[in-house]
Amino acid sequence: MQVMLAQKEVECKCGNVITMSSKKTWCEKCCRPVFYYAKDQRKDRLNNFYLLAVMALVFGFLSYLFVEMIAVPLLSISL
Ligand SMILES: [Zn+2]
Repeated sequence: MQVMLAQKEVECKCGNVITMSSKKTWCEKCCRPVFYYAKDQRKDRLNNFYLLAVMALVFGFLSYLFVEMIAVPLLSISL
């Protein structure tokens, strides 16, 4: 359920002023998310950072697996 908030003018990072009444909306000029509360903006950035860290971890693990399972046996066979 969408909680209705009092209309508030929020300035996007690109300078576009948006009148919003929900917690999150998208700027129609630059397509970036715009938040009603500044703390939600920080939370969103933290989420993005967390997602990036998890992706880096998974990628690192996969490349480790690749080296251990495929590259090392292949090298030892060819030697
Ligand atoms: Zn914008």
